[in-house]
Amino acid sequence: MPIDPGLPYDRANIFARILRGEVPCKRVYEDEYALAFHDIAPQAPVHVLVIPKGAWVSWDDFSARAPDAEIVGFTRAIGHVTRLLKLEAPGYRLMVNMGGHGHQEVPHLHVHIFGGRQLGAMIAS
Ligand code: AMP
Repeated sequence: MPIDPGLPYDRANIFARILRGEVPCKRVYEDEYALAFHDIAPQAPVHVLVIPKGAWVSWDDFSARAPDAEIVGFTRAIGHVTRLLKLEAPGYRLMVNMGGHGHQEVPHLHVHIFGGRQLGAMIAS
């Protein structure tokens, strides 16, 4: 079920629990601003999620309210992960689902990194 992005941050969401170390993840990268780990149900040969360390519900929440340093740190971390995974030459796709129409399911901002094959058209018809 898509989330309601208007709700306050839910500290019990699965990515908050991963950040607190209560739930394991297959970690790819971590720094002061971000944690990256493999998606539990990959939809491409490479499917990694990058999440900010701060408690941001969605892209809308983060882009409107996060301090500049967190936005810069998170953005750089995503770039770092794509290079760590050697995706820059073949290419890759970043995706953020936001709210109901975006079909966001976890109420903690996450950027999907897809790669490892030709990804085709942008949105399925
Ligand atoms: P979204 O629809 O953008 O909210 O995507 C949520 C993503 O989180 C899905 O691709 C799920 O497979 C993934 N996911 C949910 N729980 C976990 C988990 N415990 N570890 C890794 N990925 C997860």
